[in-house]
Amino acid sequence: MTQVFKFGGASIQDAAAIRRVGELLARFRARPLIVVVSAMGKTTNALETLLAAARAGETEEYRDRLETLRQEHLTTVEALFGDRAGPVTERVEALITELDQLHRRHASRERPFHYDQTVCYGELLSTTIISAWLDEAGMATEWLDARDLVVTDDCHQAANVDWQATVERVRGLATDDDKIRVTQGFIGGTTEGVSTTLGREGSDFSAAILAHCLDAEEVTIWKDVPGLFNADPRRFDNAVQLERISYDEAIELAWHGAKVIHPKTLGPLQQKSIPLTVRSFEDLEAPPSTIGRDTRFDTQTPSLVLLEEQTLLEIRSRDFAFMDEPRQHDILGRLVEAGLHASLIDAGAMRLSLCLDDGHPDRLEPLVSSLCADYAVVRHEDLTLLTVRHADDALLAALSAGRDSLAERRNADTAQRLFPSTQCQGTWHIPL
Ligand code: ASP
Ligand code: MG
Repeated sequence: MTQVFKFGGASIQDAAAIRRVGELLARFRARPLIVVVSAMGKTTNALETLLAAARAGETEEYRDRLETLRQEHLTTVEALFGDRAGPVTERVEALITELDQLHRRHASRERPFHYDQTVCYGELLSTTIISAWLDEAGMATEWLDARDLVVTDDCHQAANVDWQATVERVRGLATDDDKIRVTQGFIGGTTEGVSTTLGREGSDFSAAILAHCLDAEEVTIWKDVPGLFNADPRRFDNAVQLERISYDEAIELAWHGAKVIHPKTLGPLQQKSIPLTVRSFEDLEAPPSTIGRDTRFDTQTPSLVLLEEQTLLEIRSRDFAFMDEPRQHDILGRLVEAGLHASLIDAGAMRLSLCLDDGHPDRLEPLVSSLCADYAVVRHEDLTLLTVRHADDALLAALSAGRDSLAERRNADTAQRLFPSTQCQGTWHIPL
């Protein structure tokens, strides 16, 4: 049965990293194997800036940025292939030329469309280099264009998968020889052959789509951390690795803001009971973390998520009327229209409180203005939302000590508390 491996930007950021991927594949390669790859390092960010410059009229800044992108990729090719770099250099140059030329056709189109035509080159470049490197290292590969495999609608920058069409295309893939199939994460194509993208950090999702369509045995995401943790190790000094959690638990953690896995990834795998393993490419002996059907271990370790830059809106009706269902319906309808997600909703008799991310002022400010026109709104800013899964009262009390909670919510397995960010700085310790 097919295995799917996914390598993110950090695992292929330069020649040394790509060599390491080659060594890893030589050692762990499964048969048949599909390798899904992101853009190298921070290339997607660089392409976003390039796009802005292209839309501003192909200025000098545009030329500089394109040249930097070109040089970065050619330097990697040079470092990998040395005096055998010729054919790969040519392919990279051809992609850069295509990228340069497409703006002339698309600069007058809407930005999301132009975005997808531009940004997909990050993955096209990385997979071209990696596929050639694996060939060079003696592993036969086949380079596949994900735009022909992952069929989507034309909702640019957040394309939706056409599952039926995708299954048909992916099932048509030959997998019965010894080749490693290398393809791009994050990108897809419409039935008309127009490039689309699945949303930032979407390569995990791509791996899951292919695995789903192939009824794969397992998906492995190779990362620069040993696996999944019960809290962000950069914020919590005693975070521990979770070796086994269920799909539902992982979805809950991702939903509450843990940067574990792209949230859309787990659904397609859960439907087919395909396990997802997260492993370190830096420490091949480290025990991995596996997300699967087994729910037995979910409640053993409490998990914590901190979400920063939150804003709380306390909404009351002006005439002291109850915050009844029609009013809740009205307020939540406006939230949906604004395209925002509430990280916490807390309803009382006279009040509805919404905790929202500060990161989208272009959506948040119009929503606040619209609410202020019809309701009495109190706004608190600069807050941090703590979510704890499987907490007991003692743990919650200890985490809240010395912190003022502005809003709370709790159900059988999840507790949330909203604190002023000034009380949440620095490193946390999980009081066990
Ligand atoms: N390269 C894309 C991004 O940086 C997709 C991914 O990395 O998963 O968003
Ligand atoms: Mg990336």
